[in-house]
Amino acid sequence: MRIISEIVDLRAFLQERRHARRSIGFVPSMGFLHEGHVALLRASKDENDLTVLSIYVNPSQFGPNEDLERYPRDMDRDLALAESEGVDVVFAPSNETMYPKGLAGQVVWIDPGRLGSMLEGEFRNGHFRGVATVVDKLLHMVGPSRVYLGQKDAQQAVVITRMIRDLAFDVEVRVVPTVREPDGLALSSRNVYLSPEERAQAPVLFKALYGAKHRFESGQRSSEALVRLVKESLARDAPLAQIDYVALVDKDTLLAVEGDVQQYGLLCLAARFGKTRLIDNVVLEATQFDAI
Ligand code: AMP
Repeated sequence: MRIISEIVDLRAFLQERRHARRSIGFVPSMGFLHEGHVALLRASKDENDLTVLSIYVNPSQFGPNEDLERYPRDMDRDLALAESEGVDVVFAPSNETMYPKGLAGQVVWIDPGRLGSMLEGEFRNGHFRGVATVVDKLLHMVGPSRVYLGQKDAQQAVVITRMIRDLAFDVEVRVVPTVREPDGLALSSRNVYLSPEERAQAPVLFKALYGAKHRFESGQRSSEALVRLVKESLARDAPLAQIDYVALVDKDTLLAVEGDVQQYGLLCLAARFGKTRLIDNVVLEATQFDAI
């Protein structure tokens, strides 16, 4: 496994492989790897000749009062895990490499428009501008055939998919299902922040979403009723959770579904347990077997 921190070295290494017509799968991450990241790496390994993992805690996607400084990091453990998963290249750039003139010196940014200002964007001003910009840079540096993203960060996947389409990147997007703890809590690097009491209540996010999904599959199509179900479940079973939002939106446009859900919906939420902010979502999909 190569560990590379400079763009020129990354380009030189990958250029040769590209010339040999080897497909490159790319998994962007902020490190502190868990089984969710591993699922992305395995999906990439399955489909590509070469897998590149980037590990970079991108400062431009953190707000001034967010957890940039205390975001968990463990490069040694990440490298060991990447090696054991058969990753070919770990790209771990410095801030100087990614933002040579600092954040204030970066003039051109990628603005995902309304996709970046709704849902998470309402609570994390500028977050998706930072995400889109860093992913844009990384895609230019790596030049992958396919990029692997987690459904866990559904809005991020929508923003990046749309950026790739609108800016005509030559890369396929693969969205990998959310990996969960046995009790349903979506794996997240931020779960380590939770106190034992908060950790005990956190699976309610998953239970509330899946409860509503089950009701949807039993015939409840009202967007309002499904959102209400989730909110009631959280209020009842997770008193420590402060809800930022629960929303039922279109899975591509992220616009709120008014009235009844038709074929698809994305039911998503964000909640804070103390200072720890967790997000989760489920995709609702009507099948011909669902009750009507
Ligand atoms: P992060 O390191 O948090 O930026 O995440 C890197 C990638 O892993 C993103 O595409 C995430 O959506 C994805 N990811 C994070 N948690 C999970 C999870 N529990 N299941 C699947 N993918 C995940």
